[in-house]
Amino acid sequence: MTNTLFDALFAPLAGRDRPLMILPDGQEISGDRFLRQVARLAHALSASGVQPGDRVAVQVAKSPAALAVYGATVALGAVFLPLNTAYTADEVDYFLGNATPRVFLCDPVKRAALLPVARRHGVQVMTMGATGGGELADLAETQPETFDAVPRGPGDLAAILYTSGTTGRSKGAMLSHGNLLSNAQVLADLWRFTADDVLLHALPIFHTHGLFVASNISLLTRGSMIFLPGFDADQVVSLLPRATAMMGVPTFYTRLLDDPRFTRDLAGHMRLFISGSAPLLAETHRAFEDRTGHRILERYGMTETNMNTSNPYEGDRRAGTVGLPLPGVELRIMGEAGPLPPGEVGVIEVRGPNVFQGYWQMPEKTAEELRADGWFITGDLGTQDADGYVTIVGRAKDLIITGGYNVYPKEVELLLDEQPGVLESAVIGLPHPDFGEAVFAVLTAQKGAQLDAEAVLAGIRDRLARFKQPKAAVVVDSLPRNTMGKVQKNLLRAAHAERFRLS
Ligand code: AMP
Repeated sequence: MTNTLFDALFAPLAGRDRPLMILPDGQEISGDRFLRQVARLAHALSASGVQPGDRVAVQVAKSPAALAVYGATVALGAVFLPLNTAYTADEVDYFLGNATPRVFLCDPVKRAALLPVARRHGVQVMTMGATGGGELADLAETQPETFDAVPRGPGDLAAILYTSGTTGRSKGAMLSHGNLLSNAQVLADLWRFTADDVLLHALPIFHTHGLFVASNISLLTRGSMIFLPGFDADQVVSLLPRATAMMGVPTFYTRLLDDPRFTRDLAGHMRLFISGSAPLLAETHRAFEDRTGHRILERYGMTETNMNTSNPYEGDRRAGTVGLPLPGVELRIMGEAGPLPPGEVGVIEVRGPNVFQGYWQMPEKTAEELRADGWFITGDLGTQDADGYVTIVGRAKDLIITGGYNVYPKEVELLLDEQPGVLESAVIGLPHPDFGEAVFAVLTAQKGAQLDAEAVLAGIRDRLARFKQPKAAVVVDSLPRNTMGKVQKNLLRAAHAERFRLS
């Protein structure tokens, strides 16, 4: 009897003494010890009524035990459903109502607030604290240390991850054992991960990047992870000498570049730095190479598809691009009338074993975005050049249509970012009585620089067609970002919505 994901990621940890995890306090957790914890937790969840196919919702701090709950859920043939720790009781209410999990695991501190919410949906609440203790651990303590995984095949569900939902409600992306395993295998191979690697893991594990890309690859290749609760520059600087590879969102790398302790010497021994989940500025790529001699490897993916493209391990890592479609993943750029030739901007579509099974209990949404022949409409706008390299120009929903003309925010942002004193920019469309939408720029200043928004706009005037030029700009302290480092343009649009209403 086989369980596709469990057999590949967890079962082989049996008897392994090498550390699977290295914690910030120096404590090490061997593969074998982790697997025994997985087994005890699987028994505990089973004793709590979790059956194959049930959802196990988890909103807890990142810890080895939290990752072990993922393994336990997979072993049970159940469906792992991690939730962003920042979600409020109202948001949790929606997820529990939508997913109707058998068990909801939450932080003991939030138990009182979340209990009525869970009760309303008939969901059983159990607790797990920041270091893994709580009701579930208490129950697991006396359980057996081996567990016969429930048989599951590649097509069975392993996880539901809710999309971040910046437009409308979050949707639960259903990911199968086959989706997750195929992507981990392709990435491990492409990025040359082996049991000798030590991955610096500072990403959250409620998101595809930290949970699947980072953790699944390490589990699959039996490597080690320096498992940090979050990104903390002091910890990263002190533990980097033990690492061979690091995965991060772009803000990790800009923060490291801001830190004088992050030197060529400190990074010299590293094998690989990988970035994704949000655009890495070409400027950051260059600054990183100047400082360390390493070229960051940028890749592109999303909750619904796992990873789709990557710059090559060997070969040309092109700054500002997300590289080539992964082996086994088909990618096309679609215009209104069909696939577009190289260089033209359209909607990125992907098809392959990585693409999800649909949105949980949302057949209409699934039909809108996942074509019957397997192509998924990502909602990202991009181009693919003649060599196959893909460049993302933004989300389709961020496209600005002003006076009937299309403006791709990225094109304007790149020019704004080059202006003296500009650290970064976000270009958005705001309602405008004449143009439908007007182009508007939100700027942040480099440290110590005094920015004059008008002067910045004047600086790009002769480099862009008139209709693409922002009609106005503001300077703010920082751009709003979510935990994965993505700029939240929806918040910027809401904050400045009235700007042109009276003009
Ligand atoms: P999520 O589902 O939260 O992982 O968000 C996926 C979205 O993040 C994608 O659809 C892209 O818009 C964006 N994204 C991910 N990786 C990159 C990247 N390397 N460059 C630009 N955008 C990215």
